[in-house]
Amino acid sequence: MLEVFQRKSEIFSYCSSHKSMGKTIGFVPTMGALHTGHLQLATTALEQNDLAVVSIFVNPTQFNSEGDLLRYPRQFEQDLKMLESLDSDKIVVFNPDVQEMYPDGMNNTGTYDLNGIDAVMEGAHRPGHFQGVATIVHKLFSSVEPHKAYFGEKDFQQLAIIRHITKSLNLPIDIISVPTIREDDGLAKSSRNALLSEEHRAEAHRIYAAMTKVKKNFDVQKIDDLIEEAIHDIQGSDHLFKVEYIEIVDENTLRPSTNPHRPLRLFTAVWANKVRLIDNISLI
Ligand code: AMP
Repeated sequence: MLEVFQRKSEIFSYCSSHKSMGKTIGFVPTMGALHTGHLQLATTALEQNDLAVVSIFVNPTQFNSEGDLLRYPRQFEQDLKMLESLDSDKIVVFNPDVQEMYPDGMNNTGTYDLNGIDAVMEGAHRPGHFQGVATIVHKLFSSVEPHKAYFGEKDFQQLAIIRHITKSLNLPIDIISVPTIREDDGLAKSSRNALLSEEHRAEAHRIYAAMTKVKKNFDVQKIDDLIEEAIHDIQGSDHLFKVEYIEIVDENTLRPSTNPHRPLRLFTAVWANKVRLIDNISLI
């Protein structure tokens, strides 16, 4: 049976006592509704540490729509079963409630200097989202004080935000990135996929297919044409999806770039009715 902690003080003392015995701790923050993408993070944490702490907390301050927060899938018992399928002697779960993480309420959160990384793409389209992410990750880091923390490339901009705050706050935590895990048809695994209608799910392969087509033709076609085609490929003549943005940026700065000598990455956000899907791939 997995051990589950609900209090910050409990997980803090569990982790400190193990650290004082010389054990290393890898931390995997999640919002639950776990899938094999999350399990890959936990497996990597277990490979690289003596213990893995997986947090399951749906963080209200990173949602910029009440509806999205209410719709977010929650399946705690099933999440525990999935984690138990790993090496459960070496995993513990931190599952606080909102009051535990925000004892003073949620009004005064989010005053981090995010160095403009929050001004583009996800940041531009979801005001306040990354302040909420920075707030909760900082709080969770303080509760666990891990040696290493694991984040998915699926949320590449989030990864950049976490690296930035870890550095600027001088936190002694190694941030480790894990490649995106995909469904057989290429769709990036996401807790939100469970919210897709049958029709949207059946056609959602369009997103990754369009992205890989941009990558394949990057050297031989005009970029504006590639992007226009990608939008058409995803939305389709049926307009089943709506592309919110599709952008090529330098992966170090996240600023728009088409310089082939830079490490370029393609990012997109796509609406499938009320469900918003994001994805990104390297173009090199
Ligand atoms: P979430 O529960 O969506 O907040 O995600 C928790 C962590 O899992 C984040 O670091 C995500 O980037 C990561 N993650 C989510 N989906 C995937 C995926 N398909 N592949 C790899 N990592 C993922």
